[in-house]
Amino acid sequence: MDKWSGLRRQLRELEGQDLLRHMTVFDSPRDGRAVAEGAPVRLFSSNSYLDLGREPAVTAFAAEILERYGVGAGGSRLTTGTTRVHTLLEETIAAFKGREAALVFHAGYMANVGAISALAGPGDVIYSDALNHASIIDGCRLSRAEVVVYRHNDMDDLERKILARPGRGGLIVSDGVFSMDGDIVDLPRLTWLADRHGLLSMIDEAHATGVVGATGRGTEEYYHMEGSVDVLMGTLSKAVGSEGGFVCGSAELIQYLINKARSFIFSTALSPVTVAAGLRGLQKIQEEPQRVAQLRDNMAFLCRELGRYGIPAQSDSAILPIVVGEEKKAMAAMEALKERGYYVSAIRYPTVARGSARLRVALMSSHTRDELAGLAQALACVLGRNTER
Ligand SMILES: *Cc1c(COP(=O)(O)O)cnc(C)c1O
Repeated sequence: MDKWSGLRRQLRELEGQDLLRHMTVFDSPRDGRAVAEGAPVRLFSSNSYLDLGREPAVTAFAAEILERYGVGAGGSRLTTGTTRVHTLLEETIAAFKGREAALVFHAGYMANVGAISALAGPGDVIYSDALNHASIIDGCRLSRAEVVVYRHNDMDDLERKILARPGRGGLIVSDGVFSMDGDIVDLPRLTWLADRHGLLSMIDEAHATGVVGATGRGTEEYYHMEGSVDVLMGTLSKAVGSEGGFVCGSAELIQYLINKARSFIFSTALSPVTVAAGLRGLQKIQEEPQRVAQLRDNMAFLCRELGRYGIPAQSDSAILPIVVGEEKKAMAAMEALKERGYYVSAIRYPTVARGSARLRVALMSSHTRDELAGLAQALACVLGRNTER
C-alpha cells in the first residue's frame, strides 16, 4: 500500500486536464517592466494597480518604521502585536472609507474568513454571488450558516431566493469589483434588498479600493452611495501596494470582530513594516488622486486599441478578461505573449468555471501609451486577428 498514491493520481489528473499549476519566479520588482524566469517582460498581470510598492515615499516610511520597530510583530493583535502604526492605519482606512472604525487583518483572505464566520452562524442564511472570491466561499463554509448562491450579479435571482426564506436573518455578500471578470456589483439593488429584508450587506473591495470611484474610494463612490454598505471589506495587497486585509464599518461592528473573528484573534499581527507601507500607500492615493485617473485612462485607451483590432473590450476597473475558453488555449496564448515580451496571466479552473479560461489583463497607472498599444497588438496577433491597420 503506497500512502502517496492518491495524491500522485490527483496530480496526474490535473496534468492531463492542463490544470497543473506552478509558480513563476521573478528577479525584479513587479512593476511594468519585470524579469520573469530570467527574461525581461512587460508586466500586465500585477494587482499593484497604482504601482505604490516601489514609491519612494512608501519605501522610505517603511524603512523608518523598520529601524524603529524592527521586523516581526511579536504577538497577536490582542497581546503585544498592536503598535501605533497599526492603529494609525486603521484610523486612515476608516477615514478613507467614511466609516467610524476599521480593523486590519493579516490578509484579505483572513478578513473574509474571520468576518463572515463571525457575522453569520447556524440558523442564518448567507446569500453569496456565484462569482465571489474563494476567501468569501471559505468564510461561508466556516460559518456553518445556510449558504445560498445566487446567479452572478442577478438581483432578481437574489430577491427570489430571499423571498423563499421569509423571516430568516443573515448576510448578503458580494465582491465589489469581481476579481476575474472586472465587472462591478449592482450595489443600488443589493443594498436595497438587504435593507428591505433586514439582512446585513457586505462588499469585498479588494479590487475596488484605489481603483473605482472618482478618487478610488471604491464601489460606494462609483455609485455615489457613500455609507450604504454595512460591512466593507478590502485589502491593502492590491492597489495600496502592501499586504493585509481590513474590515470597516460602525464602531460596534469593529468591537464585535475584535472579540469574535478568530482569524484576527488567533494569529500574529502583521509586521509594523508592512503596516507602514500600507499606511503610506493609502495616504499617497489620497494625496495623488491623479494616479487613479491615470489608471482609468489607461484602461479606456487599451479598450479603444483592442476595439480597432476587432476585439470588443470594456472595463470600468483595472481588470480586463479576455475569455478564450479551453484551458489549453489560454495557456498557449499566455506562452505566445511571453515570447513577445508580455506577461499576462492565464486563469483557469478552479479560479474560473471550466471551459471559460481567460487571459486576465491587469493594468497599472504607470503603464505608458506605447506599452498599452504594444500589448493590444500582441494580443491581436496571439488571438489570430488581423493586425494590419
Ligand atoms: C485578492 C482578493 C482577496 C484576498 O486578499 P489578500 O489580501 O490577497 O489575501 C479577497 N477578495 C478578493 C475579491 C480578492 O480579489
